[in-house]
Amino acid sequence: MKKIKFRHKLTRELEAMLNNPKFDISIFNKGMICYEKSGHSLTPLGKYFICTQRQKNKCKDNTEQSIKIKNFERNFLSLLDKLKINDQDGFNLIYDLEKQFIDIEKEIIKKISAKRDLMSNSIELMKQEIKKDGKIKKHDLYDLLQNFKDIIRIGYPTYLFYMLMKFASSLIEFNYDNDYDNDQKIPVIMIEKIYIKNNGRVAKIKLEGTADLLLQIIQKGSPQYLNNFNIQFETRIKFPSLNIKEAFKYFEENDYKNALSITIYGSKYKEEEKFKKLFKYLNKINNKKIIEACYFLKDYMWRDPLIYTDTPQYLYNSSLHEELEFDKIKK
Ligand SMILES: [Zn+2]
Repeated sequence: MKKIKFRHKLTRELEAMLNNPKFDISIFNKGMICYEKSGHSLTPLGKYFICTQRQKNKCKDNTEQSIKIKNFERNFLSLLDKLKINDQDGFNLIYDLEKQFIDIEKEIIKKISAKRDLMSNSIELMKQEIKKDGKIKKHDLYDLLQNFKDIIRIGYPTYLFYMLMKFASSLIEFNYDNDYDNDQKIPVIMIEKIYIKNNGRVAKIKLEGTADLLLQIIQKGSPQYLNNFNIQFETRIKFPSLNIKEAFKYFEENDYKNALSITIYGSKYKEEEKFKKLFKYLNKINNKKIIEACYFLKDYMWRDPLIYTDTPQYLYNSSLHEELEFDKIKK
């Protein structure tokens, strides 16, 4: 089959909906930095991070200092450098993780395949409905979307694992993985919250669950690992096992809530909102376009399972995203 590249307005619209850029001015995610004492978050304003409440005239604590964004970024990244491990240990770690993930991935692909078949059936049904009645039955579209939702969820561990591996490779001294301009964001993305003292110094950090898992795996191999890292961690996860399969199962059982907060599974609300919006969108477009959109959704994870519905900005801007060109849909 000849591959024709095209960037259709419809697929662009869908993409924009599925990808939700999160990062703008700073490498830090919105609401990520907050004062330890008041709990107030900081928002960029010009060159500074300033208390969000102060910007609304609601903060009375005058001892909360504003922080120059550039300085804070530089200091924080050099702090994270202390998490680095030597090349040999790093490569061993990466190979071991990859080996562990293969079986999980096989299972995922099998499950996604089955769901795609169901989506194909729905699409065929919808095509017949258009031919017969001139319109699609809403519940068929709904069924299709439910399967799409399932696919995204089934494929989610692939995305988590990808982020875990990106994080792991960012911890190796020799960073061979420099495909992305924004690679420095990776370790920062793996942190959920940064608590600072009123003078702007970092007090403690809360790791994303996926990052917590990785650090615990490294720590198990070398118990001295975090001895020189003098920043405190806020509550760490008690995984039933540090085996990837078991740990991911733990995330799944907890609805992925504590795995990676920037994604839609960070909160039930975000997930519901996203799919509601998608359903509404599909209901608005004309018959021919709905079919086209359905093909797009069916192949969404398949073309590249890493293109996940909540791809952060750095992936959105990356070459990976540019590779997301679509096959012209067969008539
Ligand atoms: Zn404040």
